[in-house]
Amino acid sequence: MAAQALAAVLPELSSAIRTVRLRVPKNFEVQTGGEGRAFTYDRGRKGLPFVNCPYRETASDLLTVVHEFSHALQIVASGRSTMPPVARELCAFLGERLFLSWLRENQPSLLPLIESAWVSHNSNYFGNDLRSLVSAQECGSEVYDYGWNYPIARLLAQAILQEWTDKKIASLFKSGAKAPSLLADFLDRPSILPQRYVLPALDDTGGTVANLYRQIGGLVMLDLQDTVARVSDEAIGSRYDCLFECMRGRCVFLALDRHQTPLGYVLWQRGQEGEPVHFEHRVACIQRLPDLLTSFENHCPQVAADFRRAEPGRIAVEALP
Ligand SMILES: [Zn+2]
Repeated sequence: MAAQALAAVLPELSSAIRTVRLRVPKNFEVQTGGEGRAFTYDRGRKGLPFVNCPYRETASDLLTVVHEFSHALQIVASGRSTMPPVARELCAFLGERLFLSWLRENQPSLLPLIESAWVSHNSNYFGNDLRSLVSAQECGSEVYDYGWNYPIARLLAQAILQEWTDKKIASLFKSGAKAPSLLADFLDRPSILPQRYVLPALDDTGGTVANLYRQIGGLVMLDLQDTVARVSDEAIGSRYDCLFECMRGRCVFLALDRHQTPLGYVLWQRGQEGEPVHFEHRVACIQRLPDLLTSFENHCPQVAADFRRAEPGRIAVEALP
């Protein structure tokens, strides 16, 4: 399955994938005690790597196989050039994520188990490993902890899946010691991932004063997150008046996702006959625009029809992602 999943996305690497599947020596001995670690040993010039993957009878065994398979693949594809640890782990995490996407299409019954194993691994990578990295950065450390590489590589994998083409991902697997030059862009960023979905949930949808304040707060936070619209440059008083008036006139629709987190809003003014005009909409991130529009259509079908008539081209183009 690991070979199939990776070959589906990275056809450029198909011969290296075949080598890993058929020729790389592997050990899958049963080890329920938990003392043996999974690892891939790079034997450098002496030949193919060696993969050790103790079988523990858990769903995460499958993820471990894919992780180590991806290490072996990155070693074989890089030829004699050795990749630095953070890039090595990045390749392994990319392999895990590509595998999860492949499962979604090809073995959906396995997905929930494997996905929850992946989520529980996050709590190690962003728990102990991240704490160790932060404390080494703040206080220094006498010893090198390999775990420092994991949280960074885990975030990089997420960003790269959103931003890179499959071809560029394949070139990372082949890049060996040159991997850092492919990742140089990330050095100049304030954070690896864009900030998203940071709004707290609005659990109480009743009309209490506190809740109305929270709803206005949600609208303003969405204004701040939508860097394209630039309403954040408007004066506080006039923006507040506008939002408050729209709420009073029932001319704003704030969409919540299934976690009750605000994902975007649509607001409008009333024309002379009370018809909706001058639509504005905001989303926390552009990928969620289709969710906002669907929710708007479901809850306010009539206004949504006017909205579609008012801005047909814009919606069709923006709804594409
Ligand atoms: Zn690893």
